[in-house]
Amino acid sequence: MSRVYNFSAGPAMLPLEVLEQVREELLDWHGSGMSVMEMSHRGKHFSAIAQQAEADLREILAIPEDYAVLFLQGGATSQFAMAPLNLLGESRRADYLNTGLWSKKAIAEARRYGEVNVAASSEETGFTTIPPPETWQLSEDAAYLHYTPNETINGVEFPFIPESPAPLVADMSSTILSRPLDVSRFGIIYAGAQKNVGPAGLTVVIVDPSILQEPLPMTPTLYQYRVHIENGSMYNTPPTFSWYVAGLVLQWLKRQGGLAAMGERNRRKAQMLYDAIDASDFYHNPVDPSCRSWMNVPFILADTSLDKRFLEEAEKAGLVGLKGHRLVGGMRASIYNAMPIEGVEALIDFMKEFERHA
Ligand SMILES: *Cc1c(COP(=O)(O)O)cnc(C)c1O
Repeated sequence: MSRVYNFSAGPAMLPLEVLEQVREELLDWHGSGMSVMEMSHRGKHFSAIAQQAEADLREILAIPEDYAVLFLQGGATSQFAMAPLNLLGESRRADYLNTGLWSKKAIAEARRYGEVNVAASSEETGFTTIPPPETWQLSEDAAYLHYTPNETINGVEFPFIPESPAPLVADMSSTILSRPLDVSRFGIIYAGAQKNVGPAGLTVVIVDPSILQEPLPMTPTLYQYRVHIENGSMYNTPPTFSWYVAGLVLQWLKRQGGLAAMGERNRRKAQMLYDAIDASDFYHNPVDPSCRSWMNVPFILADTSLDKRFLEEAEKAGLVGLKGHRLVGGMRASIYNAMPIEGVEALIDFMKEFERHA
């Protein structure tokens, strides 16, 4: 077996221990005589799996008891619609911060359902900064403030949690579980699982039910948070296998020392990589150092004609998924929880060697 270091933005690497456990349990989960894929989502076996995963997520993130935790489908993209449909209520107005390509998508979708005030934007900088809070134009009657704490494509992240009178709604797809977080500051946190939680197909949503409004009249049943809360995420068949694997990732996370240990490791990984990039004229990261992402590190080669060779040689060295997003170009190394420090060291060694001989 030869496993590569996969720097893809998502679906991303999973911890090897978790994959081994999945293999171990694949044909006969804990003496049930069947695979998790074959179980009824309402049976006793899957109920145990589902409850344990929720309990572990609550413990790891210290989620306030009155918050709901949902395990849904549809990806973070579904939440671009679900949040406004359930939160806009009568005001039909929301504030959004535009800090990257995922913010833009969330804004475009919310505009289908209500009035969006873009309270601040860093688009003129090419999304390389976070606009300072004193420049934000928040509205008085916004139902909520939506933002993207970590912009996966642009590699820019908020070094703080925004202060807002309206409830905060955050797309944490690429930063959830990367470090400790004060969940009580948020109205809704949502995340597609395939970056830092588990396999694709699962969307984790953490909701303060007190902020929910009457859903807009056209809201499909499956897009109503209340329906999912009342049915324990089992109004219809949930993504059982992804839920199970996410549960194993959460147990792995606990064995690693939880979010404090993970945050320290992630800070170190990012620091090592940015230091290597900054020490060279051959590579460049365009993001303001005060808001560089710990999770997604874009970098460009001074001579872009070398891009193709860089990627080919990296792949030969067992370093894959480094091609930057097509809208940004260059390279991007996504270094989520499951990327070990050795993977980042291998990338840095490769980059130095490539610079030497290219
Ligand atoms: C990947 C990503 C998305 C899209 O997620 P899907 O699960 O594909 O819908 C949205 N927002 C952010 C910040 C992401 O990183």
